[in-house]
Amino acid sequence: MARTRLMVTATLDSDTCVECGAKDGIFVETEDDGPPFHNGCRCALLFLLPGEKPYRQTFRQWLKAQDAATQDKLLGKAKGKLYRAGKVSVSGFVDVRGNELTLDQLKRRERRKPK
Ligand SMILES: [Zn+2]
Repeated sequence: MARTRLMVTATLDSDTCVECGAKDGIFVETEDDGPPFHNGCRCALLFLLPGEKPYRQTFRQWLKAQDAATQDKLLGKAKGKLYRAGKVSVSGFVDVRGNELTLDQLKRRERRKPK
């Protein structure tokens, strides 16, 4: 029997943290792997049937559609600038464990990128 899939959905507003935003749309194996990811986390799990696609905007789409002030509130001014310049995507703001990277870490990462 095909399994129900568990998709993380972040709340789409300017109070959402980047860590949760980067997790938006990922699939987890069990409910224990899902939210809450931190105190005050407003993420939820969507239970999708095999082949079912959620009818909703992703955090990436949502953030892209916001004005610069809202993006800056969520990311911080310096990271907002990097984001709008196309240098860092939503998933680029966190490490492989999903922890938000500092501006220094982002800059170091940028320098290591092959030109
Ligand atoms: Zn969350």
